[in-house]
Amino acid sequence: MKKTKFQKPTGMHDIIFGDQKYFQSIISTVEGVSDYYGFSKIDTPILEDEDLFLKGVGEATDISEKEMYTLKTKGGDRLALRPEGTASVVRSYIESGMANRPQPVKLYYIGPFFRHERPQAGRYRQFYQFGLEVLGDSNPVIDAQIINIVYSILTDLKLKNISIEVNSIGDKECRNAYKKTLVKYLKSKSSLLCSDCKRRTKENPLRFFDCKDPKCQAVKAEAPKIIDNLCEDCHSHFKQTLEYLDGLELPYQINPCLVRGLDYYTKTVFEFFVTTKEGKSLALGGGGRYDYLVKLLGGKETPAVGAAFGIERIMQAMKDMNLIDGPKSKDKVFLAQIGILAKSKSLVLIESLRRAKIPVVESLGKDALKIQMTKASRIGSKFIIIIGHKEATENSAIIKNMETGRQETVALDKVVSKIKKG
Ligand SMILES: [Zn+2]
Ligand SMILES: [Zn+2]
Repeated sequence: MKKTKFQKPTGMHDIIFGDQKYFQSIISTVEGVSDYYGFSKIDTPILEDEDLFLKGVGEATDISEKEMYTLKTKGGDRLALRPEGTASVVRSYIESGMANRPQPVKLYYIGPFFRHERPQAGRYRQFYQFGLEVLGDSNPVIDAQIINIVYSILTDLKLKNISIEVNSIGDKECRNAYKKTLVKYLKSKSSLLCSDCKRRTKENPLRFFDCKDPKCQAVKAEAPKIIDNLCEDCHSHFKQTLEYLDGLELPYQINPCLVRGLDYYTKTVFEFFVTTKEGKSLALGGGGRYDYLVKLLGGKETPAVGAAFGIERIMQAMKDMNLIDGPKSKDKVFLAQIGILAKSKSLVLIESLRRAKIPVVESLGKDALKIQMTKASRIGSKFIIIIGHKEATENSAIIKNMETGRQETVALDKVVSKIKKG
């Protein structure tokens, strides 16, 4: 095939220019906050055994049904590009014997994930997530703390209008009995359900609550809710979690229809949203407790709770609120030069400016002073440094203050201190 022009793969994107500012500020905030709360960073392979996700994520979910990128290696192994982070973290917890360390083990990750979704605005096939996992602790205070840590990350990023939805989806004590009640109800309303929900009734009835089809909304409102059918242990776990959230004064509300798309959750589940300028609600991520997953993937029974958030979603919310305005352009010094010797001296001067943390803009490849000055005025720099032929020979530079119009010639080694004085 003779292809001369390449495009990025469908549903994937470059993170470039202004977007990198948002991207990097999210990464450094996640690292800083996670580190403060005693989380260690974990990097796992992008590829894992396909079965890890089939088992971990659950076979009757959209992710494993149609969204996984899988491949067969030359050696015949079936691998998958990771669609989410928790299964990999649990695999590593078991494989590297983390159960023998003091519990709980607190881990966080940041990186790319892959889902072969239908392309649509704001959804990518390669997307970035950060996540936090606490393994080896069943106390509800950990559930509340995970929610609080994510809230801290989002508020440190200056996001506003954050809301949190929480629910409990019970454990094996109470959920199986509840599922029967729900299936009975759904069967009685079968004629009113969309085709997906008819299928879900058999395969994964809880996921009926994820249905966005308008047809199913009335049935949903009337449906029996798990939160009213919790066993004593789940009920008191949930109550205690909410009391901790109250103590932290977090903006949460109970959503009895929140079940999350993944099979492995138990007890607490939660989701975070922000309200955009147009008043739309944007989902940023969520998480929950997954007390059975470690055992399901071959480890000892280990209670655990975690969260995962979409970095592109957070970037979108930050852009919507105009949260980043890098260094003001007037704080940047413009350096203009004429001639080979002046370019050479400029290269050295830029190093001194960089060490003094003075941002500088230049057009080293240009020769005409007029072109350089036009660029300087477009940027609006307060100071312009000019090294012409004469200055280059004399080891000096002209500093022009564009606000006062004053200009003076100073020795090259005095330029940094002069600009610092303002
Ligand atoms: Zn439906
Ligand atoms: Zn229960």
